[in-house]
Amino acid sequence: MAIELRILGRHQADEHDVGFSYNGVEFRQDRLVSFLGLNSVDTREFVEQTFACLKALGQTTARMGAYKPRTSPYSFQGMGKECLPWMFELAGKYGIRVVAMEVTREAHVEEVFEALRATGNPTGVMLQIGTRNTQNFELLKAVGRQQEFPILLKRGFGITLDESLMAAEYCASEGNARIVFGLRGMKTNLGDPHRNLVDFAHVPVVHRLTRMPVCVDPSHSVGNREVSPDGIPDVYHAAAQGVIAGANMLLVDVHPVPNKALVDAGQALSLEELPRFLEDVAIARAAFERRRALFAPAP
Ligand code: PEP
Ligand code: MN
Repeated sequence: MAIELRILGRHQADEHDVGFSYNGVEFRQDRLVSFLGLNSVDTREFVEQTFACLKALGQTTARMGAYKPRTSPYSFQGMGKECLPWMFELAGKYGIRVVAMEVTREAHVEEVFEALRATGNPTGVMLQIGTRNTQNFELLKAVGRQQEFPILLKRGFGITLDESLMAAEYCASEGNARIVFGLRGMKTNLGDPHRNLVDFAHVPVVHRLTRMPVCVDPSHSVGNREVSPDGIPDVYHAAAQGVIAGANMLLVDVHPVPNKALVDAGQALSLEELPRFLEDVAIARAAFERRRALFAPAP
């Protein structure tokens, strides 16, 4: 039986997407936008170097985590709200219009709102629901109730696609349908030696079942920096696989000194790698557009 996606599903009479524009950035099923940045905010210098590099590369969006849900209570837990004012100011200084960052409870949304207000709204924020919270229904309802920020809902790594789509519908049913659906790989040893089993063949499936733009996160899917004999790192291969399938948003961990990253150091790209990475993404996007043209209905 088909699941009931009253708001986010595709219905006969209503074939347009539920894409949206936020702070000057377009999120739609026919667009692509990249969010490169730190998995977790650490030092001011690293944050500034990253934003400066993104600006030089013409980027106006970034990822920057402040609240980190960690497997071990002894691991670094993220800088929390202390870093928000200076991180937002630096984002604004380098022309970053939207920062994607995870929130793990409702109070974080208020902290983000307050820090933006106190600094004069130098940038915008996309609230990320991490894979560990895809079925935290009270959190889903809370981010769905607020209208200030759009949402990046990551697929649960151990539940079905339908269950994750219903999680997105939870947010929408509370009033906020500005949602990007994120694929980030599934937790199973069958994906070894990747950290997760790459699930980017589901990009067109989510496009077909829903009207949401779709994000892919090759960093968390692959989780390493291995390079194939063709010279192309696995993270780049996975990114290209998502993009050539029509993904609308890319979420990628980068760090000025990757082995100094405090979270997931094993998967971050260096800043020096980014020009060629973005060129590779552009090749995959152009290939997707050619594929789409090949299958377009005759006029
Ligand atoms: C992240 O993007 O920082 C993250 C923790 O991702 P996920 O929830 O997919 O593990
Ligand atoms: Mn992580």
